[in-house]
Amino acid sequence: MKVFLNPGHAPNGNPDPGAVNEETGLRECDVALAVGKAAESYLNAAGVETELLQSDSLYEICGTANSSDADIFVSIHCNAAEAEEANGTETWACAGSYRGGMLANCIQSQLVDALDTTDRGVKIATPGINGLYVLTNTDMPAVLVELAFITNPGNEELLANAQDALAGAVARGVTDYEQLILGGN
Ligand SMILES: [Zn+2]
Repeated sequence: MKVFLNPGHAPNGNPDPGAVNEETGLRECDVALAVGKAAESYLNAAGVETELLQSDSLYEICGTANSSDADIFVSIHCNAAEAEEANGTETWACAGSYRGGMLANCIQSQLVDALDTTDRGVKIATPGINGLYVLTNTDMPAVLVELAFITNPGNEELLANAQDALAGAVARGVTDYEQLILGGN
């Protein structure tokens, strides 16, 4: 199996760092890249092929993914909210994608189990209503993971200091999905 990993937002935050914690300066683009690269190592060690691209161009990301022969697509992000209390983990899949939903469930479960974050559940993005570009425009089962809230103090600490655990959970979610696919479908 091959996984296309897309850490969210622009490399080095230029021009778009994604969400930023105003107190600590922690940037979403840096967390996403660190977790994506570490997940890549875990996946490679488990015999899963990977390709990783962080880019400010969503068009480039989808085009590269679609010509990559990847079986699944995983975009990695951090959530943010005005209200500092908002916290937890959620994973998005595209409406109508059965396997995308399966993959989202696998990754969501592993993250919540490993990090003990609030389980905000798997969310469905419907093209034309609340679609997410990278989910709508990729050809393979695709998910967008919101690891935790960079704007919440407790979650921020995890995003800063538990990147290896976050990456391991994402990787195990992918291998859980692989087992499900090989096992019965
Ligand atoms: Zn983001």
